[in-house]
Amino acid sequence: MKKLNVADSNILNGIAAAPGIAIAHAYLYEKEKLEIKDGAVTDTKEAVENLKEAIERSKYELRKVFTIATEKMGKNRAAIFEAQLMILDDPVLIEQIIRRIETEKRLPEFIVNDEITRYQELMNASDELYMKERSQDIEDIKNRIIRNLQKKRLQSKITSQVIVVTSSLTPADTILFSKSNVKGYITDFGGLTSHAAIVSRSLKIPAVVGTHDATSRIENGDLVIMDGFHGIVILKPDETQLSFYRNKIEKLTQFDKELAELKDKPAVTLDGKEIVIRGNIDITDEVDFLVQNGAKGIGLLRTEQVFGGLDTFPGEDEQFVAYHELAEKIYPEYVIIRAFDVGGDKFLPHDVKEPNPFLGWRGIRFLLDNPEIFKTQIRAILRASIHKNIKLMLPMVVSLEEVKRSKALLKECKDELRKEKIKFDQHLNLGIMIEVPSAAVLAKEFANEVDFLSIGTNDLIQFLLAVDRGNEIVSMLYQEFHPAVIRTINQIIKNGQRGHAFVSMCGEMAGDTIAIPLLVGMGLDSLSVSPSSIPYIKRIIRNLHFSKAQELAGECLGMSSLQEVTERIEKFFSENLIQQTNNFM
Ligand code: PEP
Ligand code: MG
Repeated sequence: MKKLNVADSNILNGIAAAPGIAIAHAYLYEKEKLEIKDGAVTDTKEAVENLKEAIERSKYELRKVFTIATEKMGKNRAAIFEAQLMILDDPVLIEQIIRRIETEKRLPEFIVNDEITRYQELMNASDELYMKERSQDIEDIKNRIIRNLQKKRLQSKITSQVIVVTSSLTPADTILFSKSNVKGYITDFGGLTSHAAIVSRSLKIPAVVGTHDATSRIENGDLVIMDGFHGIVILKPDETQLSFYRNKIEKLTQFDKELAELKDKPAVTLDGKEIVIRGNIDITDEVDFLVQNGAKGIGLLRTEQVFGGLDTFPGEDEQFVAYHELAEKIYPEYVIIRAFDVGGDKFLPHDVKEPNPFLGWRGIRFLLDNPEIFKTQIRAILRASIHKNIKLMLPMVVSLEEVKRSKALLKECKDELRKEKIKFDQHLNLGIMIEVPSAAVLAKEFANEVDFLSIGTNDLIQFLLAVDRGNEIVSMLYQEFHPAVIRTINQIIKNGQRGHAFVSMCGEMAGDTIAIPLLVGMGLDSLSVSPSSIPYIKRIIRNLHFSKAQELAGECLGMSSLQEVTERIEKFFSENLIQQTNNFM
């Protein structure tokens, strides 16, 4: 198909925040700019009453949003709005605002703005992108209270199917618009991890964010094409552009149908080699989606994410309930529960500041230094294992010593539970992540010590190539087909299997369709990928000859440059899998 010239003057570039393509007329959603007045109040009692009324009204609106969100996205994802509701219930904040109204005798809208802006400034000063983007959520609450103080109503109803174009979207806007079957979102501001982007992905509504000037270039009613796969927006498209994208939509619909048909089919190559495909999940609500997409169980449960990104460690009972529910839901398949992998770019308690967090107090190191936290989790996992479909996995392991110490704690927990007459799986499988070069070198020894190994390429590549996985300046150097990376992966697989361990991969590389023939050819037993990638991966495997994949792997492993490897893989696709590459991703 002819390629589109992205330098065309009617094309705007942004961030591809939620996949999908839409062609529709634009609806310019201009939020009324709130003018915040300052002034004296004579009757502070009445002013406080007005504030309370505005807060109640805001809660009412948010509860409505929360209900719709729960229906559309599940309880866990809707928790964003629950968190906003909790801020409205925060007695410290509300009492502080009331106190200031009473002592300063100024208009409530001024005090609300001043007080909540202070919160936001603190969040904006943070180095973490996450905190900065959460400050947008607080902005939503602030504007909501002020709008209700000014007794203005929100306009979020649209009548026809349109693409909403706006400067920035709040998660609540995203939910409310979705009720009117909006076809897509385009914004001037916002990033990939903003909640509005996350909500769009959950709702499966295409979104392109961070275009800078969409609202000044697009007018109400303009015909627009948006491509949420590539972050492209086309204003007033010409006939060539329209037919290019209509064609894509048609193919996409056809492709989705084909993928859905794969759901119950195994991931087996044309010459009979089966690869077990499991799903990685960060929140328990993803399980249904994972099952819908035909996964054979959960290959990685990131427990540090499951409990709301962890502000504090959950207790044994809370963890038991979550693991038990999940194990029952996924039965008879397995769930591999990874012990808390805190540290690095994830939460670390005790307010620890480290110069190199990725090389610091992470994963198993933290857990062994905090045996009470580790044991609480192990006990919860054991208690939930009665159906014998749970396995435990340790993160960031670098030495055999760490495995032995973990096993000793596992034994302690088993002995305790036996004494307490609590049932559990006596043979609970134990495995480790191989995500550090030292563990890769010792794969055979580890394999003798545990039941399974899971290759975590996200960390393994960063440590092997000394390239920070989250630093966009060096992102070009983060290369999954670097000869050292593929040879290391191959060594892990071969040595792991020699040590009689089941070898799987759960890093992002396992979900990269281009990498599949090579990974299968190197002999991986299983892949664990994000649920949405499962059908794509299955499709490649079902059209692959294992013998040819082995040949490909053999050749690539003898190469010494990235370019040689990538060119060989491209050639493999054009010779063997031309039908399986698609234009959408
Ligand atoms: C990995 O490192 O590849 C992995 C799966 O773990 P995480 O992305 O949680 O660090
Ligand atoms: Mg990791």
